[in-house]
Amino acid sequence: MKKRVGIPRALLYYKFMALWTTFFEELGAEVIISPETDKTIKDLAVSFAPDEDCYSTKLFFGHFLYLKDKVDYFFIPRFGSDHEFNVGCPKFLGLAHVLNSLFPDFPKIIMPYYSQAKANHGKRRILRIIFEIGFKFSYNPIKILKAGIRAFKAQAEYENQLYITEQQLKKWIKSKIFLNGKPNLENREKPLKIALVGHRYVLNDELSNLSIRERLLQAGVDIITSIQMPRSLIESQMEKLDFNMYFSDEREILGTILYFLENNIIDGILQLAIFSCGPDSIILELASRYSRRQPETPLLQLVLDELTSEIGFSTRIEAFIDMIDRRN
Ligand code: SF4
Repeated sequence: MKKRVGIPRALLYYKFMALWTTFFEELGAEVIISPETDKTIKDLAVSFAPDEDCYSTKLFFGHFLYLKDKVDYFFIPRFGSDHEFNVGCPKFLGLAHVLNSLFPDFPKIIMPYYSQAKANHGKRRILRIIFEIGFKFSYNPIKILKAGIRAFKAQAEYENQLYITEQQLKKWIKSKIFLNGKPNLENREKPLKIALVGHRYVLNDELSNLSIRERLLQAGVDIITSIQMPRSLIESQMEKLDFNMYFSDEREILGTILYFLENNIIDGILQLAIFSCGPDSIILELASRYSRRQPETPLLQLVLDELTSEIGFSTRIEAFIDMIDRRN
C-alpha cells in the first residue's frame, strides 16, 4: 500500500506545489492535498489556531486538521529563503514545530529546514534533504535522485508558465490578450484594467479573498496579478529603492505596485492584505506613501480576516470601480 503524504493547501503550497507533489509522486507516495478552503476548514481554523496568528496561518491550521486522519505523514517544510539576502515570513519556519508541539499524536511531520540567507544552504543541502526524505519511501537511491530532478524540472516548467514576459505584458496592456479570463462586457464598451496584488495564498484562495477575481470579471475588469508579473520588472523596481526590501514575497507585491504607479498605464491597483501580518503592514504603509507621491493610478488597499463582511467588501470594490469610471 502506498504511503500517504498530506500537504495542506495553504501558504507555501501555492508557491511550491509542482515541486512538492512531483517529488512525492515520483517516489511512489500518494499525495493528498486538502481541498480548497471551505466553511468546514475555516471553522476548524478559527477554533484551533491561536487568536494572534494572521488569518492565512489560521487557515493553514484548518487544512492541517482536515488532513489529520487521512495521511501517514504531513509535509510542512521549514523554508527560510532561497536567496542570498532575502527571506520569507518567519511563520514559514516555525509553523511545523508549533503544530508538532500542539498536536503530538498526529501523523509525523516531515519538516526539512532550508535557508540560503540565514544558514548558507545550497545544492548540497538540497541533495541531503532529497535523500533524507526519499529513504522514507524507497531504498533505491537512483529512484530518489530521479524524483528530485523531476520535481525541480516540474517546478521550473510551472514557473515558466506562470510568469509572463514583458512582451505579454505589453499585449495585455493593449488588450490583445486576457491573462485571467474574459471580463463581462455587458455594461461597458471596454474593460477596466486593474492589477490585483497580494500574497499568492490570498489571491489563489477564493474563501480568503471572497472570490475577488470573479467579482472583478463580472464588473468588467481585466485583471493582472502580482503573481504573474515579469520578474525582471519587479527586480528593476526593487533596485530603485534606497533600502533592500528583504521579504521575498513582499518584493513581488511592492514591485508590482511601484511599476504600475510609476508607469500609469492601467486604471487602478487593488491590494489585498491580511490582518495581523507583519510584512503586509510594512508594505501597506510603503505602498500608500508611494501612491501619494504618484497618485495618477488609484490604489485601493483592503485588509482581510475571518470577520471581513462580504457586503462591506463588495461595497468598497464597487465604490472603487465607480470612482475609476468617473475619472475616466
Ligand atoms: S507573510 Fe503575513 S500573511 Fe503570510 S504567513 Fe507571514 S504573517 Fe501570515
